[in-house]
Amino acid sequence: MNRRLTLAIPSKGRLREPSWSLLEASGVDPQEPGERVLQSHCRNAEIDLLFVRADDVPEYVQDGVVDCGITGLDLVNEQASDVEVLLQLGFGKCSLQAAVSVEDSATSLADLEGRRIATSHARLAREALSDRKINAELVKVAGSVEISPRLGLADAIIDLVSTGSTLRTNGLRSLGVLFESEAVLIGRSGSTDSEARRTLTTLLASVINARASRYLLCNVEKSRLDEVTALLPTTGSPTVMDLATPGIVAVHALVPASIIWSLLPKLQACGASAILTLPVERMVP
Ligand code: AMP
Repeated sequence: MNRRLTLAIPSKGRLREPSWSLLEASGVDPQEPGERVLQSHCRNAEIDLLFVRADDVPEYVQDGVVDCGITGLDLVNEQASDVEVLLQLGFGKCSLQAAVSVEDSATSLADLEGRRIATSHARLAREALSDRKINAELVKVAGSVEISPRLGLADAIIDLVSTGSTLRTNGLRSLGVLFESEAVLIGRSGSTDSEARRTLTTLLASVINARASRYLLCNVEKSRLDEVTALLPTTGSPTVMDLATPGIVAVHALVPASIIWSLLPKLQACGASAILTLPVERMVP
């Protein structure tokens, strides 16, 4: 018999909302937990939810308290958790960067040699520096890492950055990226892949793929069809249909959302008209 799948998701912080909206978009119909309640379930799937801090998720999965969890890749690596990354979720993107005061003379990561660096990501920082053969002294701090150089606690910092605005606000300048992170779905390593775990991974992947795609429709003269199809991504053949008006065809294709802005003027230049782009709900390649 198939037992229910347990999934740990962040109860607070910046990964909470996007994790929840991904689950909602997947159609499992997650039920909001009540005030201060840590457990809930999904109406449309055999999934129980456990709400815990993002930094506790790797341990819960590793120890088998839950089957799967959503957390940041940085947290998985910082804790050296023995878990399997099942899927990259496309949100919570950030990078571990080294930064110095704007007045500092350092211009590259190599200039960190022999210096004091404040960080709350000691393991990731140590590994990244040792990979680059940089010897530096790490000063472990729990929070407000950005003010360490100003307080004279360290010459530099290593911290997670997404937009870079916190660095700028604190008079800091990045020397480079040491590690890229994003939210991930993790599962217990070595566990025989249950059907429920596979289904959840496929479902979430279908939403992530769909979010990155648009369904494109346009009409074009048959004589210019080759010009239009040459503009479309080569993966997946476009659908071409005759319209009631002779000599005109409709072209339908799935295209990456990221190229829409550059694609539309080119389609127009090929004489395409009635160009529509629609969001896609789910996409299983
Ligand atoms: P929380 O502390 O609960 O808000 O979540 C922290 C997690 O969010 C980190 O472990 C990263 O995976 C992710 N994250 C995304 N952008 C940033 C950022 N600019 N600073 C810190 N964490 C970030």
